[in-house]
Amino acid sequence: MSLRDLYQEIIVDHGKTPRNTGQMPDATHCQCGHNPLCGDRLTLYIKEKSGTVDTLCFEGTGCAISMASASLMTEAVKGKSIIEIKKLYEAFHQLVTEGKTAIDVGKLMAFSGVAEFPVRVKCATLAWHALISALSNDSNSVTTE
Ligand code: ZN
Repeated sequence: MSLRDLYQEIIVDHGKTPRNTGQMPDATHCQCGHNPLCGDRLTLYIKEKSGTVDTLCFEGTGCAISMASASLMTEAVKGKSIIEIKKLYEAFHQLVTEGKTAIDVGKLMAFSGVAEFPVRVKCATLAWHALISALSNDSNSVTTE
């Protein structure tokens, strides 16, 4: 199996069966995200404890890339500090726009192929925009521009 096939498999798997879905009544942060270009929508629930994302989950509908990205993001950031998460977001953003990144992003590497499809970048970054916005307490709604 080529690396490309493996990445494809990760995205299909998480797109079909997203991890960490649902609502969280006692969330400390809640953020909606919408990508009008594709119709992807999600709501992210986060429980933050002293500068660390203790746990998080999401619910939403959209294309396989947006759902897979949200699913893999929840796995990648759980238990991490907000500072670590912001670094990871920068690396992920570079990955989906340039196809490479300087730091190890683990399974998120599956999205490296998105750089070849600029219209898909907003699908891949929707959950991340919602996450960063929620942790920055900017607003309760975010639209990827
Ligand atoms: Zn999409």
